[in-house]
Amino acid sequence: MKKIVMKFGGTSVATGENIRQVASIIADSVKKDRRVVVVVSALAGVTNQLVEEAEQAKKKDEKQIQEFTEKLIEKHVATVMEAIDNKSIQKEVELIIKKTVGELEKVLTGICYVGEITPKSRDYVLSFGERLAAPIIWGALRDIKLQTQCFTGKEAGIVTDENFGEARPLMNVTTHQVKGRLESLLEKKIVPVVTGYIAATQDGVVTTLGRGGSDYTATVLSVALSSDEVWIWTDVDGIMTTDPKIVQSAKMLPQLSYGEASEMAIFGAKAMHPSALEPVIEANIPVRIRNVFNPQNQGTLIADGEETKSTEVVKAVALIRDVAMINIRGAAMVGAPGSYSKVFDVIGKNNINIMMVSAAVSEGNISLIIRRNLLGRALSTLGIVLIGRGVINEITSEDDVCVIAVMGANMKGTLGVASRIFTTVAQKGINIRMIAQGSSELNVSFVVKEKDGAAVVRAIHEEFKLDQI
Ligand code: ADP
Ligand code: ASP
Ligand code: MG
Repeated sequence: MKKIVMKFGGTSVATGENIRQVASIIADSVKKDRRVVVVVSALAGVTNQLVEEAEQAKKKDEKQIQEFTEKLIEKHVATVMEAIDNKSIQKEVELIIKKTVGELEKVLTGICYVGEITPKSRDYVLSFGERLAAPIIWGALRDIKLQTQCFTGKEAGIVTDENFGEARPLMNVTTHQVKGRLESLLEKKIVPVVTGYIAATQDGVVTTLGRGGSDYTATVLSVALSSDEVWIWTDVDGIMTTDPKIVQSAKMLPQLSYGEASEMAIFGAKAMHPSALEPVIEANIPVRIRNVFNPQNQGTLIADGEETKSTEVVKAVALIRDVAMINIRGAAMVGAPGSYSKVFDVIGKNNINIMMVSAAVSEGNISLIIRRNLLGRALSTLGIVLIGRGVINEITSEDDVCVIAVMGANMKGTLGVASRIFTTVAQKGINIRMIAQGSSELNVSFVVKEKDGAAVVRAIHEEFKLDQI
């Protein structure tokens, strides 16, 4: 009997109609005697709305907050009506939604009174998207007569560190708790529906795993329960040669090794959460990316040793938005052992993840890429600590950039790939702001202005004929 953890992303649960489709996919697997654990994201767009509301709440009044929460109820209740036929299940889910939004309203009102939002309270607000979506899926499964039980990440037993906004699961306790809470249900063919993205600290304070974190929840649960596979259901056929929303002719990649998939995910191209593969690599559990709207398609299989046996040098190109570049310059860094580590130390202590680094051999210059929303925090701490101590002279930043990552296992040892990439960009008259190539040689990444990002992706896709893979 196969045990599968299935994660359904925001677009898969965007409407009641989509939720019915999700429920039928789950039912189909249960019929085939699979043990299924379901992980759900917030309805499409809801987490973004909560991010915005969390920011605005401190400037709002109670009436404005109420307007927001009323709209949220409306949206979710309308989805319930569409997704579920049975009147009493409809009522039950509607009540849960109203009660949950009532709790959110109190949190937002608190923020509005205090006039401040902390990382902790922000995570609490962001957790509501998944908390509102999961009961709807739970109701839709009961509607088609499946046995099911609904959990938040915290109730399922996922425990993280206290890095709010980007928390990491503590696997030992998590495994122990998740096993204890979910395994017996699976044996009884009950389908646990677990909220993605959210968990809790050891003290029970709500945390989130970073944007797109439902993928991560799925792989964490998979390892904790030793499942046979993880299926990430989304709105495209699998991992493609690039974002099909940028290049329509992008092709699906039928298989990828963990290494290749990590190179694609690591920079946070939307297709998957950058940390999601970590737990399954160690446990050697295969991951499939599949399309809810095309379930006949087997999707992309990510597993050990699944490198495409192709001769293509470049396999995919990704565009990573919402990043910022920091340039640090300092004469005192030249020939001074440990100066880079001081920079990394300051950034790391502030829980800011560095996505990309480039340093010139002149040593007087280092450029970093981080998430754009963390730029303010990074600049102020770097300024206070490093300029203050005379380690560096100048910090500049650009918040209108994006990263282009070009990847493929066969790039390793193949001459001239980088020059072909950069010539292609140059022919478009686009300026490259920063370049990095890891020694794995699976990936060449560079930074351009965000407005040029899509054009660069199209040009590289065309140059390497990725639509003919
Ligand atoms: P979900 O809500 O299912 O988590 P996401 O929006 O997070 O969905 O991720 C899926 C989206 O990722 C796709 O709709 C697609 O536009 C985008 N995407 C970006 N790069 C790729 C890629 N290389 N392959 C597939 N999808 C990609
Ligand atoms: N709802 C969360 C987000 O939008 C998590 C996820 O979708 O995976 O980031
Ligand atoms: Mg996602």
